[in-house]
Amino acid sequence: MKLQSYTLNNYKNIAQYASLTEEQKEAMEVIGQVLPFKTNNYVVDQLINWRHLENDPMFKLNFPQKGMLSETHYQQMKTALESGNRELIKTTATSIRLELNPHPAGQLEHNVPEMNGEKLMGIQHKYRETVLFFPSQGQTCHAYCTFCFRWPQFVGISDFKFASKHGEQLRDYLCEHKEVTDVLLTGGDPMIMKTAVLEAYLEPLLHSKGHGVKTIRIGTKALGYWPYRFYMDEDAADLMQLFKKIQSHGIHISIMAHFSHPVELKTESVKSAIAQLLSHGVQIRTQSPLLRHINDSPDLWADMWKLQVNLGCTPYYMFIPRDTGAQDYFAIPLEQAWQIFRNAYQKVSGICRTVRGPSMSCTPGKIQILGVSNIQNKKYFVLRMLQGRNPDWVGRPFFAEYTKQAVWLDDLKPAFGEPHFFYETELEKILNEPNLISLN
Ligand SMILES: *Cc1c(COP(=O)(O)O)cnc(C)c1O
Ligand code: SF4
Repeated sequence: MKLQSYTLNNYKNIAQYASLTEEQKEAMEVIGQVLPFKTNNYVVDQLINWRHLENDPMFKLNFPQKGMLSETHYQQMKTALESGNRELIKTTATSIRLELNPHPAGQLEHNVPEMNGEKLMGIQHKYRETVLFFPSQGQTCHAYCTFCFRWPQFVGISDFKFASKHGEQLRDYLCEHKEVTDVLLTGGDPMIMKTAVLEAYLEPLLHSKGHGVKTIRIGTKALGYWPYRFYMDEDAADLMQLFKKIQSHGIHISIMAHFSHPVELKTESVKSAIAQLLSHGVQIRTQSPLLRHINDSPDLWADMWKLQVNLGCTPYYMFIPRDTGAQDYFAIPLEQAWQIFRNAYQKVSGICRTVRGPSMSCTPGKIQILGVSNIQNKKYFVLRMLQGRNPDWVGRPFFAEYTKQAVWLDDLKPAFGEPHFFYETELEKILNEPNLISLN
């Protein structure tokens, strides 16, 4: 199968283009100036149901929709477009983008480690056991998700010259940090890389015994957006050999597969791709954000987890989408998110209950909403950290005042009149003094 990508420049060539309403076409043009757009022939031909676009989850996951910008921003860009003035279109796009919180959760400033006084670009070390690695050739995707918090890098405004060009620095860092057991390759989508490129990044790790890495994780949506990558692309067989080779060094491969909707699990190609990976000893764990308009129903999540388990995958995380980009379109109040999680969790057997969530990845760590609890006739949020910048924070339950509309940690206040959440004073110290990060 040959990959055909569609962007704002050529999407009118999509055979089903005529099915778009005038409003949808306008939204494409207007929002496409601000937020990134890319899709491909697999998504278009096999995942989107063009007869019911108004309710189609994969259409909304890939194609800009009117509500993804505020009415004000939408009108600003529409006016700029109508003027035909290229300079105005550009400056309008830039000013809107800057109002969409392009750099949430202090990702850039706080997690890039140093070695011998040099910042290690392409490496992030936030949690003790796990290092993120951003290979520079893996910083795009087979298609873009409209909710994605990485949108600034896809439109080229991200100032994070972030990615790493080779794997030697990663190896050196890992040899100095033997507490790290997991490397998580991320992007973009690392599976956009050719096998030879991926291999060149990982080769230094395989030739060194001085690190403690036991699992290489690959965060990818290729099973959802381009399953051929794993069994049909010209270097798919090489990829399987590479995975085998890595395993022969005692290192597991875990695909952290991003699936947003059951429809992504039902094509023959995705089933073949999953079977191929499993038969080569690769583990597959699954995760997705919970998104209004796309997957905000307990039945859908229960269905998704069951399908995943049935195909041999392990459900891992349900996320709350980050506070950036088109968040208003996708956001679900935390209480409702928890209800969806809980109702779905109740519908499945224990084998699906490896999943954890709903979880917010924020500055202090990954915070799980355990639920809303009634204490002496007053509602409170019960939370806990699944991951913490300080490992000692992990697993401690804590409380926040209940608010119906809260959609993110920033909307929450400590319960019982406490001035701070338990971690806040220490967090401030860590952020001001990066070397304090208690990674050891
Ligand atoms: C989620 C995440 C990880 C991995 O955490 P696990 O709980 O081990 O899956 C690592 N680093 C960052 C920055 C993360 O957000
Ligand atoms: S595939 Fe992943 S990185 Fe790429 S746009 Fe979707 S969520 Fe973002």
